[in-house]
Amino acid sequence: MAEGEDLAAIRAGVAKLCEAFPDAYWRELDRARAYPEDFVRALTEAGYLAALIPEAYGGSGLSLRAATVILEEIHAQGGNAAACHAQMYIMGAILRHGSEEQKAEYLPRIASGELRLQAFGVTEPSSGTDTLSLRTTARREGDRYIINGQKIWTSRAEHSDLMLLLARTTPREAVARRTDGLSVFLVDMRAARGHGLTIRPIRTMMNHATTEVFFDNLEVPARNLIGEEGQGFRYILSGMNAERILIAAECIGDAKWFIRRARDYANARVLFGRPIGANQGVQFPIARAYAQMRAAELMVHHAAGRYDAGDAAGEEANIAKLLASEASWAAADMCVQTHGGFGFAEEYDVERKFRETRLYQVAPISTNMILAYLGQNVLGLPRSY
Ligand SMILES: Cc1cc2nc3c(=O)[nH]c(=O)nc-3n(C[C@H](O)[C@H](O)[C@H](O)COP(=O)(O)OP(=O)(O)OC[C@H]3O[C@@H](n4cnc5c(N)ncnc54)[C@H](O)[C@@H]3O)c2cc1C
Repeated sequence: MAEGEDLAAIRAGVAKLCEAFPDAYWRELDRARAYPEDFVRALTEAGYLAALIPEAYGGSGLSLRAATVILEEIHAQGGNAAACHAQMYIMGAILRHGSEEQKAEYLPRIASGELRLQAFGVTEPSSGTDTLSLRTTARREGDRYIINGQKIWTSRAEHSDLMLLLARTTPREAVARRTDGLSVFLVDMRAARGHGLTIRPIRTMMNHATTEVFFDNLEVPARNLIGEEGQGFRYILSGMNAERILIAAECIGDAKWFIRRARDYANARVLFGRPIGANQGVQFPIARAYAQMRAAELMVHHAAGRYDAGDAAGEEANIAKLLASEASWAAADMCVQTHGGFGFAEEYDVERKFRETRLYQVAPISTNMILAYLGQNVLGLPRSY
């Protein structure tokens, strides 16, 4: 946490903003699989999505810890920050690895909301988690790169002006280290759509605005390369810890929402002459979910603190994401059970949040890969890949 930051005030501000976007707002969007345009605009105008952009570039220059409070609170209020959370952290690639010109050109406009940078093109259909096997290529020709290939699960591509794209600039066989030869580009999708860039929405279990994106000889100016050619994988990795901590905070918010709803329902629903919450078979799962959430929450705070102190925080970020996504899922399951049949009814919103929170054990990184990281990188066990 940075000096002078008032986390309680930030939390209260976000909660106030969310009052204008009640359950019915999210329910309607979910039904129509529509994008929460008004919510994203309100968050942008209030400056929350520019939390991590330094003040020198028009943002609020807040700590990661403060950013976790913003995202957690949106979820605790029943909202879903997945529609725009990437705007907070993708810009980190420009901030940390971009040139002075790129920072000056893009960051202030991203901070003001004039430009949306919400699309992050890493995952591909054939390579999935095995990022180093990705096949999208960028070939240099004079002052531009020619991009060919395909991405999948590129969320928010239809609602973003810019995309941060990871593509191969040197064939895998021609690089010394397997992590070399990938590069990061800032693609201006406004200019590209219909000129080598095609976006196709994917309908998913929850309302997520995700897509697949096709590149067919798309031309990107060479000045849109971020940092050095061939070093892109490192740049992407450097942003992943922040992403994991922020997503973990959303899971904590979800868990708090489920626990609150379950508690209220268990207090209000009277059967056999007493509230169902008086039965230990109903009460104890709520208490257990609460304990699990609190333990995960501590880890999220710890990870954000280490990150803000300038540590890499890889171990803590991964553990925070693992524990928080499991805590939110356990709370979701408990909340459905507590509500009985009404847990399945749209108008209670439990089933919607249940579907939404399931994602975080798969994306942005699946639980197995976190366990592999801990096993191999932290505990020194043999590598599986
Ligand atoms: C709704 C949604 C939104 C997304 N948004 C984005 C986005 O904006 N940008 C983006 O780039 N990506 C995005 N993703 C992709 C997401 O990051 C991947 O789905 C995730 O990393 C898993 O990759 P995969 O789906 O290819 O699964 P795979 O890599 O095919 O893995 C399948 C299963 O096998 C397991 N597995 C694979 N290898 C191993 C191993 N060595 N050891 C143990 N287990 C293993 C995995 O853990 C997983 O459970 C999104 C995905 C979804 C579903």
